Amino acid sequence: MKAFNRGIGMTSQRTRDRLVERLRSEGIADSRVLEAIASTPRHLFVDEALASRAYEDTALPIGYGQTISQPYIVARMTEQLLEVAPRVVLEVGTGSGYQAAILSRLVEKVYSTERIEPLTTLARQRFRQLGYRNIRVQHSDGSWGWPQFGPFDAIIVTAGGSEIPPALLEQLNMGGRLVMPIGDRTHQVLASVTRTPTVFERVDLEPVIFVPLVGGTG
Ligand code: SAH
Repeated sequence: MKAFNRGIGMTSQRTRDRLVERLRSEGIADSRVLEAIASTPRHLFVDEALASRAYEDTALPIGYGQTISQPYIVARMTEQLLEVAPRVVLEVGTGSGYQAAILSRLVEKVYSTERIEPLTTLARQRFRQLGYRNIRVQHSDGSWGWPQFGPFDAIIVTAGGSEIPPALLEQLNMGGRLVMPIGDRTHQVLASVTRTPTVFERVDLEPVIFVPLVGGTG
């Protein structure tokens, strides 16, 4: 298919492998995650004009004021989720669809919600074109989760907020894990929350900067 070779074509596997080496040196140890990154064409999740930068370890604009997350952060969050061996995962903030694509290689089913309609449509098209069949996307305010398909073994929120939306905690299975950047627009920490029979145990991992979690659908 022509779309696969768009832009950097043949060199993309080499640059992708280089990215994986870099992530490994930065402390990403889970080989399943590294393998997923090595086999996912990130250049097809950004605009053609940015394709040549797709394997740099950096966030890139995807339009509508939003960004595709930095690969290191995608890897870090994915590693956190895999620790609880999830089968069904909810993502809030589909964006480009890259994080969902990574997850789709590692779990049975990915549900992903996005509040910006054109991004939802584009991500859905990408999944269809690239053959990711276990991802279901919905245009909605993900702060409310996706009750129809919950509860989930793991939840990943790829936009930052001052607190975890209560509906998401409710839709997390016992033993489940939620990762989300928590804080204001300038200072956020990547938090990892595990649901136990008595409490939600929170561990703060590292400082991060994400676009804000916004209520409603725009
Ligand atoms: N996971 C994405 C990162 C996208 S940036 C990727 O791999 O490309 C975060 C996304 O969250 C943006 O697209 C933004 O529109 C979306 N978002 C923000 N608030 C939201 C909400 N309440 N519900 C659903 N999506 C939201």
